[in-house]
Amino acid sequence: MSKKSRLKIVAGNWKMNLHSNEALELVTGISNYLENNDLPDNCQAIVCPPSPYLFLVANSISEELDNKLSVGAQNCYTKASGAYTGEISPEMIQDIGCLYVLIGHSERRKYFGESHEFLAQKVNKALEVDLIPIFCCGEPLEIREAGTHVDYVSTQLKESLFHLDVDNFNRIILAYEPVWAIGTGKTASPEQAQEMHAAIREMLATQYGKETADSVTILYGGSCKPANAEELFSQPDVDGGLIGGASLKADSFTKLIEILNEVG
Ligand code: PEP
Repeated sequence: MSKKSRLKIVAGNWKMNLHSNEALELVTGISNYLENNDLPDNCQAIVCPPSPYLFLVANSISEELDNKLSVGAQNCYTKASGAYTGEISPEMIQDIGCLYVLIGHSERRKYFGESHEFLAQKVNKALEVDLIPIFCCGEPLEIREAGTHVDYVSTQLKESLFHLDVDNFNRIILAYEPVWAIGTGKTASPEQAQEMHAAIREMLATQYGKETADSVTILYGGSCKPANAEELFSQPDVDGGLIGGASLKADSFTKLIEILNEVG
């Protein structure tokens, strides 16, 4: 499968930002853009609001945009229900109309100590209820400086994803997010992003075969914004972006959709 036919995505990770009126204003701005601009069938947008606003945001999106704008959660737990105060289950996320869930974001790994094994359990549970995991991987600065970033990411994928059979793996979306580029204003160069995305496809080819390696969507994340998106999105193995800061304003987020549509 060529890059042209892979699913292309701009996904916004709103993190722990915005109040409900702002969340609604933002999703309305994105909806307006998508209602007035045709996107190719294989191009779509996802927003990942904080969990208290998932229902509100999912409900505000018109059915006509069903294939163009979807909602994802930023996290999920590994159980369907029970005495797990404060957690939300994949079943609940799916029940309120979300299609995606971020798993393995570096902030979850760092601040909440999420291990490879725990992330593997989340992936399994999400897939069980047909939620699509957007699985994040990426190396911290000291690993990049030591030159062992490809091995580091390989371990993240092996330990949390490579237990999946090929059919399940084909449902996953990957996001390569070098930790040193997240929220820092420092972007990976297009060459650095391409090098890792190509290396990830090689890992997938070894584990699952070339067809899977060629068809999996791999997003880049880390200070991606309208000013640098064109050169990142035009790399042969970059299929779009997972966007933090620049996803909080409708004009910058929709500009990223426009750029992906043009050069992706
Ligand atoms: C992210 O949190 O996934 C991210 C890429 O953030 P930012 O775009 O702000 O670096």
